[in-house]
Amino acid sequence: MEWYINKGSKVCFLCERTFAEEEVYLSALYDEDNAFVRKDFCEECWDKKGEGNIFSHWKTKVPKKPETVQRYANIDVFYDLFNKLENEEDVSRVNFRYVLSLYLMRKKVLKLKTSHKSNGNEYLVLHNVREDRDTEVLKPQLNKEEVLAVTDEIGKLVNCEPQASVGNA
Ligand SMILES: [Zn+2]
Repeated sequence: MEWYINKGSKVCFLCERTFAEEEVYLSALYDEDNAFVRKDFCEECWDKKGEGNIFSHWKTKVPKKPETVQRYANIDVFYDLFNKLENEEDVSRVNFRYVLSLYLMRKKVLKLKTSHKSNGNEYLVLHNVREDRDTEVLKPQLNKEEVLAVTDEIGKLVNCEPQASVGNA
């Protein structure tokens, strides 16, 4: 599993200007009625966007055309989301966090130590290498298709296209 920067042209949410080649823009993930909504802003509009319940935000640089090398999504964006979802109990967010943990394990940011069951749930005990601490992840009962669907959903929010597969699919 890997996420690549989506190459489609993006426009600023406020001024509706299409971002130029190599322009740096900001994306914010808003927490609206318990759903995540992504909005992109040019640097000038970032300060004018007003108040909102921003869960996470990051910068992206528009690739130069023609872009021959596919850019990997910034691992820090996923890492930040993973950490911020730590105490969330909403099912879709638990699923998000689990899929993010799979990705971060591949990136060796998290290492699986053990797992345990409590109250009928399975938990992965992961070591966060960056912060040298352990964290637990609820492992939801997802089949491969559901994991791929969540992967796709995260990709859309973060504006990246998931590629490759989970498991041997
Ligand atoms: Zn703008």
